[in-house]
Amino acid sequence: MKRQLSITNLFFIFIPLVIGVAGCSKGVSVNSDDLEGRNYGTEKVVVVVIDGPRYEDTWGMEQQPNVPKMAHELLPQGTFFSNFQNNRRTVTVPGHTAIATGNYQGISNDGSELPDKASFLQRYLKETSKPSSKASIVTSKIKLNVLAETNDPEWKGRFTPHTNNGENGKDRADTQTYKEVIKTLQANQPDVMLVQFKGPDSYGHANDWEGYINSIRETDSLVFELWNYLQQDSFYKDKTALLVTNDHGRHSTGHRDGFVSHGDWCKGCKHISLLALGPDFAKGSIIADEYEQIDIAPTVGVLLGIPVPAYDGGKLIMPLLEPEDQRTALFKSSALHEPFAGFPPLSAPQKQDNP
Ligand SMILES: [Zn+2]
Ligand SMILES: [Zn+2]
Repeated sequence: MKRQLSITNLFFIFIPLVIGVAGCSKGVSVNSDDLEGRNYGTEKVVVVVIDGPRYEDTWGMEQQPNVPKMAHELLPQGTFFSNFQNNRRTVTVPGHTAIATGNYQGISNDGSELPDKASFLQRYLKETSKPSSKASIVTSKIKLNVLAETNDPEWKGRFTPHTNNGENGKDRADTQTYKEVIKTLQANQPDVMLVQFKGPDSYGHANDWEGYINSIRETDSLVFELWNYLQQDSFYKDKTALLVTNDHGRHSTGHRDGFVSHGDWCKGCKHISLLALGPDFAKGSIIADEYEQIDIAPTVGVLLGIPVPAYDGGKLIMPLLEPEDQRTALFKSSALHEPFAGFPPLSAPQKQDNP
């Protein structure tokens, strides 16, 4: 089964009163004419990808002890998508490519191949004629260099964003990447930025449970610090959207080698998360409709007023875009200022569909 409706259904069973007004449809197809004439307060966008934590170890846990900053401090200021998915290849480069370009592609995971489509960063530079420093990719993994380029002859070698990926030809620690992110924000003042933290993935592959959980907590803190940084910098304050998501999860507990690996279509690998903070987004909201990685790029395009096509079933994330009075699928509650226990445990892993 491709879709994860059982998660949504469970969600309603466990907390029907809390989430009762939210719609339960799978993804929402959208006519962007609905957005005609909308003006967004968002002028800058930062997308943070936390590489490879499982939903069951992050937002899927009762009280969310491993993502306390995001779940308890940031969610009251933003909108959370509890049914966000990687619906294609659940590995690093394909996941990031889907996020950056809006296109699912069978791209190599070793950094030897370029995306087929231009990223929202390239499109931003083209549309605004700004220098490359205004779109920036800062990552812990060096192989994500490929995100700055594309095979598309119309775009190849043009409108290439600034990159700062890994260090001395190697991957680097997330705390180091975070320092580079802040330096870049200070020095270049980019309008669009893509950041990647690798900790959960690296410790997972090392079969280091404690390191894995600690790195989830570390990335949670780094996201919190980054948001606070943006909110005290007059260039970014109140005009920046921060989207926090994942490239993939990891195998569900009990499936194959569990948290150590990833890459198939089990629930643990596919079910990721999206937290959105920014001037145009509702606060303290949880959306249970399904959205997926390829929806991010066209949605960023609308927020920034630049054309970013949707590919392959990609759609706009309407709860982030429609006028406040039309946000019928939103759940809003002051109760979210308290730690909430709304997310159900994941059900037993399904049989593997495909490697
Ligand atoms: Zn991995
Ligand atoms: Zn899996």
